[in-house]
Amino acid sequence: MAFDYLIVGAGFSGSVLAERLARVAGKRILLIDKRPHIAGNAYDHFDEAGVQVHKYGPHIFHTNSKEVFDYLSQFTEWRPYQHRVKASVDGQLLPIPINLDTVNGLYGLSMSSYDVESFFNAAAERVEQVKTSEDVIVNRVGRELYEKFFRNYTRKQWGMDPSELDAQVTARVPVRTNRDDRYFTDTYQVMPRRGYTRMFERMIDHPNIKVLLNTTYAEIVDEIAHAEVIYTGPVDEYFDYCYGKLPYRSLRFEFETFDTPQVQPVAVINYPNEQPYTRVTEFKHLTGQVHAKTTVVYEYPQAEGDPYYPVPRPENTALYQQYKALADATAGVHFVGRLGTYKYYNMDQVTAQALTLFARITGRPRAEISAAVPVPATVRS
Ligand code: FAD
Ligand code: UDP
Repeated sequence: MAFDYLIVGAGFSGSVLAERLARVAGKRILLIDKRPHIAGNAYDHFDEAGVQVHKYGPHIFHTNSKEVFDYLSQFTEWRPYQHRVKASVDGQLLPIPINLDTVNGLYGLSMSSYDVESFFNAAAERVEQVKTSEDVIVNRVGRELYEKFFRNYTRKQWGMDPSELDAQVTARVPVRTNRDDRYFTDTYQVMPRRGYTRMFERMIDHPNIKVLLNTTYAEIVDEIAHAEVIYTGPVDEYFDYCYGKLPYRSLRFEFETFDTPQVQPVAVINYPNEQPYTRVTEFKHLTGQVHAKTTVVYEYPQAEGDPYYPVPRPENTALYQQYKALADATAGVHFVGRLGTYKYYNMDQVTAQALTLFARITGRPRAEISAAVPVPATVRS
């Protein structure tokens, strides 16, 4: 049997497209992944101690898009979760994003919101045009807070100085003058109640979707007949790096299990300065799991390894534009996702991008695309 679509990558972008194309458009799908599991970087599982962990680092779902939330709600129940992060700075654990309590705690002050705004204004070094990740922070809170909370973290995470990175990187983290210590303020902040992998299992549970794991695109492309391709792997790899390699930042994850129920006051502690790792995550805060033991993961940034982060800076965007022109001119192959379009996208943005691509390739009005299709009772739990 020939497939209508060969979908490369069973992460958010590939799985959403598989689901929509099979369920709504009646297409026959072959969904492949080179890894031994579905769910891409959002994959979660139970470790040897029985603690639920995210294999590729902490994944916290947050979105302002009702459409994305409603769409994914067909495949999971949710657990409300507000993400909180502390930064280890000068021997203290202080709230990050920087807020009123961060500044008061750091300097032993008792300023009001009004005072701290004046404090930021006095410390800020205004730049005419905010272009880099250094500009964003120094322009808002000044050099001292920038150096304590952002400069070294960013140098570790990206292997380059914030002044070499686009503004969008550190602009992901707001600065507040109130006491709100949530990492995100999105309308929907939830975690899939039984985990991401379970949500993906339900999403792709359809007779028209065949799944092949441990399989690369190169291995299968000439072996199995298919009409079109949806490619969610790195776009430069697809084109054999013909214009040179697009830089991606990678991570090494080190897991550690403790024989005690809890080791951190919040899910994530950031280590901007002294440590070789950037952050430590304790998963039970995210999952709500009750267990006598607990597992944390340390993230060590590195250049080599799985491509996790596109690196947003002008020369990389220019190089990507060359690949994009080639991608646009390649009939029958659609590129999507964080690696396929070289965009520093969150899970909800990738989901929205996949729904948009579905609308484009099937010629359906955008509004109809995510409309809830009743899911058979057997895939609910
Ligand atoms: P992926 O999930 O990377 O899926 C692509 C898949 O394609 C992979 O499984 C890969 O194995 C497969 N593949 C690639 N090439 C080939 C090939 N040649 N043949 C076969 N298979 C191939 N987002 C949030 O919203 N909240 C968070 O808290 C968050 N935390 C993150 C933390 C970390 C450490 C990282 C790295 C990312 C985080 N993200 C977070 C981003 C999130 O992981 C991505 O938005 C999302 O996973 C992207 O989905 P995708 O389908 O585009 O790519
Ligand atoms: N960042 C930082 N210090 C922090 C938190 C973030 O310097 O305590 C910078 C860093 O460059 C990071 C970026 O802000 O890569 C975006 O942070 P976010 O938490 O969104 O990163 P992600 O979860 O995508 O790794």
